Amino acid sequence: MTIRSLTELDLHDKRVFCRVDFNCPLADGAVADDTRIRAALPTIKHILAQKGRLILASHLGRPAGAGFEEKFSLAPIAERLSHLLDGMPVLLPEDCVGDGVRKLAHDLQPGHVMLLENLRFHAAEQAGDDHFARELSSLADIYINDAFGVSHRADASVCALPQLMPQRAAGLLLQKEIQFLRETLANPPRPFIAILGGAKIADKLPVVEHLLNMVDGLIVGGGMAYTFLKARGVSVGTSLLDATKVHSCGKELERAEIKDLPFLLPVDHRVGKTPDIAEGRLITDEAIPDGWSAFDIGPKTIAAFCALIATAKTIVWNGPMGYFENPAFAEGTMAIARAVADNPGTTIVGGGDSVAAVERAGVADRITHISTGGGASLEILEGKVLPGVKALEL
Ligand code: AMP
Repeated sequence: MTIRSLTELDLHDKRVFCRVDFNCPLADGAVADDTRIRAALPTIKHILAQKGRLILASHLGRPAGAGFEEKFSLAPIAERLSHLLDGMPVLLPEDCVGDGVRKLAHDLQPGHVMLLENLRFHAAEQAGDDHFARELSSLADIYINDAFGVSHRADASVCALPQLMPQRAAGLLLQKEIQFLRETLANPPRPFIAILGGAKIADKLPVVEHLLNMVDGLIVGGGMAYTFLKARGVSVGTSLLDATKVHSCGKELERAEIKDLPFLLPVDHRVGKTPDIAEGRLITDEAIPDGWSAFDIGPKTIAAFCALIATAKTIVWNGPMGYFENPAFAEGTMAIARAVADNPGTTIVGGGDSVAAVERAGVADRITHISTGGGASLEILEGKVLPGVKALEL
């Protein structure tokens, strides 16, 4: 697959459409966390330094797709971006397509930037509509994808649009993500250990399936672990369980056994009747009593997981070890965050919750690569080529 890098293109005086992921959390009408804007700054600054005419486009939240909605406007994002660009004005039209926007894009001066309004004000964006993509394509000469977080989606601005553009390339953030995730996985220093957690077993089972062909050991904690424990014949009480996946989980456990791979699951638990209680009860055994739900891994499990983590030269982590939003059930996730950070090898953390955990544990600066895309990084771990990356192919 041949994909150009942003740095290979002559951007001078060109209109550059750059799809970014500025889907930042907002609070009281302001950006509450600008990580995603900062992550795109190297690409933005490169285009502006080359005197490109920069047209940024993003989605924000989940508007109805039937036109402008104040609470999903990118106005707070434009303000924050302007601040991060030392006060450079960021032009924000009222829409992302139409004659008015085309005129503004046409008049945009080299080295200047405009940010289109929320792409998802049009249902056509998520529908991957060709006509909408054609409208967007009329704004620019060059297409750059720097939105790793949405590159696993078939949205119009991610898939249809680049194929309509004569010149297309990967932005610096997208390149960095792909390099770390794909190249590390292709040739990982060994032992290579993967840690998976979180709730959605259906999303993560294909990842387990693919990773079992690559890793030297797998650690599974969090809500998804209980379907695996059930498959091993362990009582899981009222813990999170996907009954439709017990059989498949059993198959994966068998595969690991045949390959003689360590496949670690929780051996003790912190449980509660509901996840919002002030203190969980410790169950020192693998089996969870009837009527109780496991919301965190226990100390024996933490020790076993950390011991395997310490042996690794490459670690990939996606998904929390428990219901860590409640501090009463955050110990397991925090301990894993610290153990991953303490490992001197290559460490990759993806998924909003695991990223939040390494930040909350104060160890984010000791992680080799923190991925900006949970879903996209999972698809790479599944062995898929992201549609948004494929669309950049020459
Ligand atoms: P996911 O989106 O699949 O990565 O799941 C993340 C969510 O899983 C977080 O909100 C966690 O609180 C939740 N979670 C993790 N472990 C458990 C558990 N043992 N029981 C219930 N929810 C959990």
